[in-house]
Amino acid sequence: MSKIIAVANQKGGVGKTTTSVNLGAGLASLGKRVLLVDIDPQGNTTSGVGINKADVPNCIYDVLINEVDPNEAIMPTQVEGLHIIPATIQLAGAEIELVPTISRELRLKKSLQLVKDRYDYILIDCPPSLGILTLNSLTASDSVIIPIQCEYYALEGLSQLLNTVRLVQKHLNTSLQIEGVLLTMFDARTNLGIQVIEEVKKYFQNKVYQTIIPRNVRLSEAPSHGQSIITYDPRSRGAEVYIELAKEVVSYE
Ligand code: ADP
Ligand code: MG
Repeated sequence: MSKIIAVANQKGGVGKTTTSVNLGAGLASLGKRVLLVDIDPQGNTTSGVGINKADVPNCIYDVLINEVDPNEAIMPTQVEGLHIIPATIQLAGAEIELVPTISRELRLKKSLQLVKDRYDYILIDCPPSLGILTLNSLTASDSVIIPIQCEYYALEGLSQLLNTVRLVQKHLNTSLQIEGVLLTMFDARTNLGIQVIEEVKKYFQNKVYQTIIPRNVRLSEAPSHGQSIITYDPRSRGAEVYIELAKEVVSYE
């Protein structure tokens, strides 16, 4: 049985891409077959796994707009068992181009049906907005992981995201669930981080992952080398925690 998970939060810089790449690599290191779907026009997941955008024959834009078979858009990465459907800047146009099309929110869902059986997990890295690309992602998914940065105003804007999830559940995807809430960039040296954890746990209760991602400089370096943390520095704290998270995600299968 495969599971499709959107990694979503309309705030930028909360760790969506870092989580998509490294949870994906973590799951692959546990022997799972994983597909990353980069649906952010910035394409940070794509470059983060070492793909040069100039060498991409078909990207997610071609799948969504030009009806290219998604099997033709899948590329391997350096991590065994980890594949990706990449994004290029072309995708920036999709938000507008999809507006007048029929069943525009269902495009990604229909495409992923064609590749689902090849994978245990499909992780969709969403853009920092609640536009049509995020709607496509939530509609295509079984569940959503919400990364929350341990900082001041951590919960701000979350009600908008949760409203969107509810609307999708009501109109587009009745079985969508919250897979988990992930606290990211935790800094143990500040009281603030601990306060945020308490606040988020009060709000989301048992939906909060036990694994908390600390601030780790190796995690921020890995993307510029086009690598997941698990290949870039397998002994780092960053690698350890993302493998821990992967085990936790698998335990809820
Ligand atoms: P988003 O995809 O939500 O915009 P990113 O995953 O790109 O967020 O993270 C934003 C920035 O923070 C990036 O430069 C990334 O390398 C860095 N970052 C993310 N998680 C961590 C972490 N745990 N420790 C240190 N830096 C991190
Ligand atoms: Mg991102």
